[in-house]
Amino acid sequence: MHVVRVERVFKDYLLGNQIVQALANITLQVEQGVFLAISGPSGSGKTTLLNMIGCIDMPTEGQIFINDQEVTCLSSDELADLRSRTTGFIFQTFNLLPVLSAAENVEYPLLYRSDVSKEERKQRVKYFLNMVGLSKYMGHRPNQMSGGQRQRVAIARALAIQPAIILADEPTANLDKATGTEILHLMQEINQKLKTTFIFSTHDQRVVDMANRLVRVEDGSIQELGVRRGGEWAIARVQDYLAAAVARELDTSGGDARASLGIPAGGAH
Ligand code: ADP
Ligand code: MG
Repeated sequence: MHVVRVERVFKDYLLGNQIVQALANITLQVEQGVFLAISGPSGSGKTTLLNMIGCIDMPTEGQIFINDQEVTCLSSDELADLRSRTTGFIFQTFNLLPVLSAAENVEYPLLYRSDVSKEERKQRVKYFLNMVGLSKYMGHRPNQMSGGQRQRVAIARALAIQPAIILADEPTANLDKATGTEILHLMQEINQKLKTTFIFSTHDQRVVDMANRLVRVEDGSIQELGVRRGGEWAIARVQDYLAAAVARELDTSGGDARASLGIPAGGAH
């Protein structure tokens, strides 16, 4: 089953009186349990795509399905409810509440869950702070912790709702190299242990190589899709698919069209 399906999604932003096309015709499926990197340069649409998948914002056109449920037709209350059960978020700037302790930050999203008792909340806070190695920091506030520790709190907070998907927008961008790698390893460990699907964005090639699925975007479009088995990436370039489709079209319309475009016989397939 696909935990996320994105079908022909477009997203335009209105900036003053100008339309900015942030996503153009994105179609993509995400299998359950993968460790997926969305890579691309700054401004390519990574955050916009994560916001669409996380139901933080709605596409201008197209559909999003989470666990086969279409979310692009839900009311804002229904969306908030779905988010609080299925999607954990990790941000570049950690986004912890500064006046709350680590434990209170992790507990916070659970306060919106009437199905989780107070006792269960306290248990989950302990369990997930322990999982990220912060048992001794339950009472610390964000400004009493390092960047890496803050991101660990954010990971525990995302896990506490026991989500099907964790979305992480450039989770290592504000950390030094060693701490960033540590955080990625922790996410990877959790992915393998709990089978939580992770979708994270990055513009860092080292981070991409820790993933087992890749979606590379540029100018709001998908350029490459990748699957890694063992150490080897199998990469499909969307351009090649298009070239193959054009070649098939030319095949059916005859060799003359092919020659007139300068495509050698037996070319792209
Ligand atoms: P990335 O995360 O890859 O850096 P973004 O998704 O943030 O890219 O942005 C994609 C494009 O959409 C950029 O051109 C950006 O300027 C534009 N954009 C993003 N958010 C908004 C917004 N709220 N209003 C107007 N333009 C936006
Ligand atoms: Mg971004």
